[in-house]
Amino acid sequence: MRRNNRPITQRTTDQLSVIASVFEYIEDAVIITDAKERIIDVNRAFSKITGYSREEVLGKSFRLMVFYQQEVSFSEAIWNEIHATGCWCGEVVNCHKNGEIYTEALSLIETHDETGAVIQYIGIFSDITQKKMQEAQAQNLMNFDVLTGLPNRTLFVDRMNVALTRARRSGENVAIGYLDLDDFKSINDTYGPTVGDKVLLEVAKRLHQAIRSEDAATRINNHECDAGEATARMGGDEFAILLTNLADLQQCDIAMSRILKSIDSPMVIDSNTLQVTASIGVTIFPEDGADANALLRHADQALYLAKETGRNRYHLFDHHRHSISRERRALLTQMEAALVNGEFCLYYQPKVDMMQGTVRSAEALIRWRHPERGLISPGEFIPVLEGSHLEIPVGEWVIKTALAQMEVWRKADLDLSVSVNIAPPHLAHRQFSERLKFLLDQYPDTPKNRLELEILEGVALGSIEQIVCLIEACRSLHVNFALDDFGTGYSSLTYLKRLPVDLVKIDQSFVRDMLGEPRELALVEGVIGMSKAFHIAVLAEGVETEEQGITLIRLGCVLGQGYGIARPMPAKDMLAWVASWQPSVAWKKALDEWTRDAVVLF
Ligand code: C2E
Ligand code: MG
Ligand code: MG
Repeated sequence: MRRNNRPITQRTTDQLSVIASVFEYIEDAVIITDAKERIIDVNRAFSKITGYSREEVLGKSFRLMVFYQQEVSFSEAIWNEIHATGCWCGEVVNCHKNGEIYTEALSLIETHDETGAVIQYIGIFSDITQKKMQEAQAQNLMNFDVLTGLPNRTLFVDRMNVALTRARRSGENVAIGYLDLDDFKSINDTYGPTVGDKVLLEVAKRLHQAIRSEDAATRINNHECDAGEATARMGGDEFAILLTNLADLQQCDIAMSRILKSIDSPMVIDSNTLQVTASIGVTIFPEDGADANALLRHADQALYLAKETGRNRYHLFDHHRHSISRERRALLTQMEAALVNGEFCLYYQPKVDMMQGTVRSAEALIRWRHPERGLISPGEFIPVLEGSHLEIPVGEWVIKTALAQMEVWRKADLDLSVSVNIAPPHLAHRQFSERLKFLLDQYPDTPKNRLELEILEGVALGSIEQIVCLIEACRSLHVNFALDDFGTGYSSLTYLKRLPVDLVKIDQSFVRDMLGEPRELALVEGVIGMSKAFHIAVLAEGVETEEQGITLIRLGCVLGQGYGIARPMPAKDMLAWVASWQPSVAWKKALDEWTRDAVVLF
């Protein structure tokens, strides 16, 4: 501010008379003091605004008259500023002679003579009480619910933010509750909106009391807390609750139970006795470390579960489960884009006849070429797909891509069967066989029996009749079926006998352990024997070593798949691999021995 050290100069008589009439008739109060801040003159507006006559204030202290209501530190600060800059402007709360409090907009000026010495102080102020009240009313409308007088969402979120900031520092727990009346619509429909409004008012009152009651008050902040800070109307029949400084979940439980009980007791409204109940969703900060709006959303989600599980109860938001599902949703969104952007691809792993040294087929195994993370194996994303809207589109993409690849190979003189893994819900989909037929028809030159569908053993456990039906529908299209990961489920002999599959794949875990573990060896032997008895081909998964191959050949299992034969590879590598693959010499030897023994035995 500019220092007002302009000296008072000699004025003409005309100038003085103009100043005198402005002084007298101006609407703003003017107060003039001497250098010692004693009042030497006031105008008529001053008396009108303050209630004091000129005579009553002459000679009195300016500070006492103007800053009487203020903290000493406040008036000191103002005075320091006037001395430093020559003036001060601002709002001051003052007291009328009749005791009423009013707010004035005040400008204070210090005037000096030629030497710089203070001559006088001039204060000019107007009464802005009315304007302030209007502002406060507007603020109220912005922050409070008109019907119940409770804070509205805006103010509640503000107060939550304050509570969360404090809780972040102190480590205290804060509970955020979202309350919704059960079946409020039927009250409105039956008794009309006026009764409905009264019910809301009563609920607001009960909430207020339940939260303010003795032990709640000590809990909230360990000091008396304005219940307005702890409850809010969010709109309609929805309210919010904020409980701070909770030591543990039990305290939250007590508070929520009390709130539910207080609403549950009968209400008499316009001679109607009404029974109203509410449901509450609750989330606890900092375990749920979200921001205010997300915390409210989480409480709202928990409210939904409280309603689902029977109403008139509260439900705690499961933060852990939510974060998992949030991650899953994010991954699914990425996968949706990956499908559109062609980031999925198929690798192929040969399945060979270890006895004849021929390649029987190749299993298509999905991979995700992630632009940042590189090649991701199915173990990381297939479980995420399970039960999602993408499970079937991805499944179809696999079938389509495998069929297209078979055609490419066929044109390059490689007549290779391909097996694809089918997720159980995909197979169970109503239109699976129709869609499969449609896809197969896109490749009329590829014999349909070159496609094999691998289904998990567990699928058969659902309903054997249903699965048989599904398999038969697809087999009528001439595609083949393999039972994958056999031995990991609990299929009985009867299941295996009844399932119309062409191949049983012994799970790699048994193959891996069969050399050191007699039980695993017996199991492998059992599966081989059983398959033969039912005239189903049998293949060993996970053949990693020569020894495993030898043992399998000796047990009579000639089909194998595994790293010991070939790792899954991109489609383009398959032609060269097939052309160059030679079975192990040791297998050939084992085969000769096995044939000789068999002949001797025979
Ligand atoms: P699976 O169908 O049993 O496929 C065999 C898995 O074992 C493949 O893993 C393969 O790379 C791996 N494997 C093959 N030989 C060996 C071996 O000698 N040693 C070891 N340790 N592992 C071997 P991958 O490609 O990671 O696939 C894992 C599983 O993901 C598959 O098991 C299958 O259940 C599923 N999967 C793969 N592709 C698809 C698909 O397109 N659709 C569906 N629904 N599931 C798929
Ligand atoms: Mg498989
Ligand atoms: Mg398998």
